[in-house]
Amino acid sequence: MKNLKLSIASVAIGMLALSGCGQGGTPDAPAEGGDSKAAPEYTVNDKADVSDSKTLKAAKDAGELTIGVKKDQPGLGNVKAGSDQPEGFDIEIAKMVAAQLGFKPDQIKYTETVSANREPFLQQGTVDMVVATYTINDERKKVVDFAGPYYVAGQDLLVAEDSDIAGPEDLKGKKVCSVDGSTPAQNIKEKYKDAELVTYDAYSKCVTDLQSGSVDAVTTDDAILRGYAKQYEGEFKVVGKPFTEEPYGVGLPKGDKAMRDAVNDALQEGMDDGDWKKAFEYTLGSTDGVDMPEIDRY
Ligand code: GLU
Repeated sequence: MKNLKLSIASVAIGMLALSGCGQGGTPDAPAEGGDSKAAPEYTVNDKADVSDSKTLKAAKDAGELTIGVKKDQPGLGNVKAGSDQPEGFDIEIAKMVAAQLGFKPDQIKYTETVSANREPFLQQGTVDMVVATYTINDERKKVVDFAGPYYVAGQDLLVAEDSDIAGPEDLKGKKVCSVDGSTPAQNIKEKYKDAELVTYDAYSKCVTDLQSGSVDAVTTDDAILRGYAKQYEGEFKVVGKPFTEEPYGVGLPKGDKAMRDAVNDALQEGMDDGDWKKAFEYTLGSTDGVDMPEIDRY
C-alpha cells in the first residue's frame, strides 16, 4: 500500500515536471541539492530480458531488486531526517539502471551499505548490486565485479573554513578522519604516514568530529565532501585539489557476466538518452565541466 502511494506520488511529480517545462523548453531553476527541480522519471523497459543473469532472474522472479546504497552522504545517497526514502545521484543511477532492467521504482529495495561491507554484502547475496560511491579498483575486482564507471570523483579534504590545510602534504601531525574499508583511508595509510588517521564506519561521524574540533580534516571523495560543505555552509570548506581518481562503478556479484553486460548497457543508454544528465542535474547541480566517463567493459 505504501508502495502504491509512492508510485502515485511519483506520477504526480512527473506531471509537475512536464508542466514545469515551458513551451520553449524553458529550463527549471537550477538544482540546489535537488530541492528545486522535479524528480526525473525513467522509462521502465517492460521488454528487458534478464533471464541469462542468475542474480537478475532471481530478482525478477521475486519482484524485488535489492540495491546497497549509502544513507548519510548528501547529494549522493542520503536519507533526510523525517524521511525513509534515500535520495541523491547514486539513488538516481540505481533507479535509472533498475528501470532499464525492467524494475519499477517500487520494486527496488534499498539496503544501507557502509564502505567496509560492500564486498561482503555482494559476496553473500545480501544485496543484488551496490550503488554507493564505490571506486572501481583491481583489489576489489578480485572479489566483486563492476559496471561503469558512471562518474569520476577524486580524493580531497574537508576542513574548517579558517583552516590553513591546503593539501595532503599539510596533514603532518594532524588528525584526519576517514572510513574503514575506503580507498581514501587506505591512501592516507600508505602515502601520508605522518598524518594521524582516525576511522569510523561512516563519513557523517567524521563530520561530527570535525565540527567538535576533535579532528583537523575529513578525507574522502570531493563529491561526498561537497555535500557536507553545503550542509555546513560557512563552517567547512573543501580544499578543492583532488589528489586521486575515484571512478564510481555499480558493484556486482563476481562472475555474473550477463548482469555486468546488462548494467553496462543500461548506463550507456542513460548517458546517451539524457537520463544521466537529468539525474546529475537533479542531485549534484550543473554538469558544466563534468565529463561522462567511458564505460570500461573489461
Ligand atoms: N570512493 C571511495 C571508496 O569507494 C570513497 C567513498 C566511500 O567510502 O564510499 O572507497
